[in-house]
Order: sequence, then C-alpha cells, then structure tokens
Amino acid sequence: MGDELNTIVELQHAVDELNAAEELLAGIPDWMQDLHVEYSRKKAEMEGLEAASEEANEAKRAAASEISDLQVKVKHFQEQIGMVRNQREYGALLQEIDDAKEQISEAEERQLSAMEQGEEAQRLLEERSSSFQELDDRYQQELQKWEGQKPEVVQRAEELRQQIEGLEERLPKPTLALFQRTGLHYGGSALAGVREVVRKGPRIWHCGACNYRVRPQTVVSIQAKNIETCDSCKRILHIEEDAG
Ligand SMILES: [Zn+2]
Repeated sequence: MGDELNTIVELQHAVDELNAAEELLAGIPDWMQDLHVEYSRKKAEMEGLEAASEEANEAKRAAASEISDLQVKVKHFQEQIGMVRNQREYGALLQEIDDAKEQISEAEERQLSAMEQGEEAQRLLEERSSSFQELDDRYQQELQKWEGQKPEVVQRAEELRQQIEGLEERLPKPTLALFQRTGLHYGGSALAGVREVVRKGPRIWHCGACNYRVRPQTVVSIQAKNIETCDSCKRILHIEEDAG
C-alpha cells in the first residue's frame, strides 16, 4: 500500500512524457516551429500567386473566346444588312451590331485586366522565387534533421509504454481505474499537487489544480501515503517534493 502513491506519481510522469513524445511525433519540434510557421506562410503565399496567375490566364482565355464568338456574330449581322426588307429590320440589325460591339469592348476590358493581373502575379512569383527556394531548402534540411531524430523519440515512446504497463501492473485495479478515469477526464493529468498557503495562523492547504481547500486530515493521510482525491475536482492528490 505504501508505495501506491509513489507509483501513481511515477506513472503520471511517464504518461506525461509519453503524451509529449506522441505529440512531438505527430507535429513539428519546437526548434523547427518558427521556420515551420514562416515556411507555411510563404508557401501559401506562393501557391496563392500561382492560383491567381492561373485564374487570370483562364479569364484571359475566356474573354478571348467570347470576343471571337462576338466577332463572328457581328460579321454575320453585317452580311445580313444587304438583305433587309425595310427600315424596321435595318434598325433592329444595327441595334444587334451595336450591342455585340459593346459586348466585345467589355470583354476586351476584362481581357486586358486579366492580362495585367496575370502579369502582376507572375512578376511577384519571379521576384519571390529565389528567396522562397532558399527558405524551402532550409526547411527541407531541418525536416531531414528532424527525420533523423525521430527514431530516438519513437524508441523512447516505446520504452515509456513498457514502463507504463509495468507501473500499471503494480497498482490495485480500483486505484488504476481511478487514475485512468481521472486522467481521461482531464486530458491526461490525473494528479494534483497539494499547495500550502503561506500565511500567519493555522496551516492551510489547497489543491494545486483547482485551488479548493484540502482538509488537514487529508494532508496527514496523503503524508501517510494513502490515496486521497480533491473534494472538488477529484484529482488524486500528492505532496510535491519541493513543496513538502
Ligand atoms: Zn482540485
């Protein structure tokens, strides 16, 4: 019974370290974080410019094809002019031609503005490409370095899993269940340190996690290595070494 609480503390440390290792393996290490943020931002910027350039080309093509269709239409109307039978038909035809010509000039404006946008996107892409290339190289190098470090973290995680298994076997089932249930509820952390409030008068203790008062007899019981939980948050209480 005596070392049950010690086992729990040890178990919590191992669980914390394993969680950190797993989080690390799923993400990016701290020493790469700044570069990762910069790289992600610049990469998104370059991709945005490429998309803008592609979009402008698409708009340019669409406008050009619209213009050529309209020109065919105008030519067709103009050919009909010789065949009109009266003033009304003639007026209607001229109106059609005017409308088509107006549509052509609108499409030409769109074409021009798409060209300008495409050129601007290309200009920015070229302007930024060498500095992005340099950043990309640096990022790939660090990624490679991180890949080189990963196996060590993977191995440590495996050691921790085994250690956790061993520690769990040493705990009575209800205590282990309490530890696991509480840990699950609090995202991994089932433990709370008991904090003594330094002040004049009788000694007072609080739960280090939720700050709820811990009764003196509970503190005595914890010191006797019994398993006690916080009356409020239900975390397993322990006396931290430096606070004891
Ligand atoms: Zn608490």
